[in-house]
Amino acid sequence: MGRIYNFYPGPAALPVSVLEKAKDALFDFRGMGAGIMEISHRSAEFESVLESAQTRLRRLLGLDASTHVLFVQGGARMQFAMLPMNFLKTAAAYINTGNWSEGSIAESARFGETRVVASSEDRHFSYIPKFQKDMLKGDEDYLHITTNNTIYGGQWHEAPDTGDVALVADMSSDIASRPHDYNRYDMIYAGAQKNLGPAGVTVVLIKESFAQKARQDSHIPMMLRYRTYIDKNSLYNTPPVWSIFILDLVLEWLEEEGGLAEIGKRNQQKADVLYRLCDERPEFYRGCVEKADRSLMNVTLRLPSEDLEKKFVSEAKSAGFLGLKGHKLSGGIRISNYNAIPVEGAEKLAAFMEEFARKNA
Ligand SMILES: *Cc1c(COP(=O)(O)O)cnc(C)c1O
Repeated sequence: MGRIYNFYPGPAALPVSVLEKAKDALFDFRGMGAGIMEISHRSAEFESVLESAQTRLRRLLGLDASTHVLFVQGGARMQFAMLPMNFLKTAAAYINTGNWSEGSIAESARFGETRVVASSEDRHFSYIPKFQKDMLKGDEDYLHITTNNTIYGGQWHEAPDTGDVALVADMSSDIASRPHDYNRYDMIYAGAQKNLGPAGVTVVLIKESFAQKARQDSHIPMMLRYRTYIDKNSLYNTPPVWSIFILDLVLEWLEEEGGLAEIGKRNQQKADVLYRLCDERPEFYRGCVEKADRSLMNVTLRLPSEDLEKKFVSEAKSAGFLGLKGHKLSGGIRISNYNAIPVEGAEKLAAFMEEFARKNA
């Protein structure tokens, strides 16, 4: 059996060329006679992989020189806790745009005053709340947003202006998917398993000026301090060698494909071809999110009935399109359109959907 079109929400599809290179490196990495998973994380060979991944991220996202590129384990969810553990002194502000925001808010509340300054919960997270600076008191240690709502399908198309308050974002499901002003954020974190690579590594991009504001409390464990990762170049303990290696290959692929300008263009094309169905057949494919806030990464839809949604998922699977069932919180259909999905994959899925609507409307 060949490879199919994989729209799983995460872990998600990886570029075929990356998998081919990974296959070789599994047995023999750069002629060492040993695989990449079998060599010391302190070897020159692995250090060059680490440095390459950091340099590529810096270059692709256009990061300021003062931004540290860190690799942490524990997933994005560990960042939900590590962020307030290190930075919450007076109060933390959050914007609630769905399940992942709620998770980060709950962890923050364990550490101190947590202010939810805007929320789209009133309309089932179907939009991105309007934000103005004056929603903050000004004494907050940071404002946290979730740039893309993997479950409900909304996305911040521009970073909010927070004035002097630091801005922190969970970009797990849209990092490196488009040109964006990544330097507007004092800290960004992202689990790799959607757009950047396999599960097991979380990218943390943190400005030195923000890192300097961290709490100094001696009870914060070494493994949960950003400063440890900065000082030890993410090599305080054994890092997830394999995950970082694949991440570097994915970044290399991104650069070869033309960087964020090109990948952003493709992601827009892919989203357009799918959202067109909601616009042309709104009685059959009901888009879950307001037009202006639609995510380029996760297209969420409802069909006229749950039975039809089940039928859709199962017929799509037989036709070679995997992973289209919506999250249990939102129901319906979710098409996760990450970087590794080719434009042709989205076009073929749209053609299948056209046909499905014709037969079942
Ligand atoms: C997937 C996802 C997470 C969870 O990531 P883990 O690495 O499983 O902890 C958090 N936030 C967002 C926006 C996500 O899409």
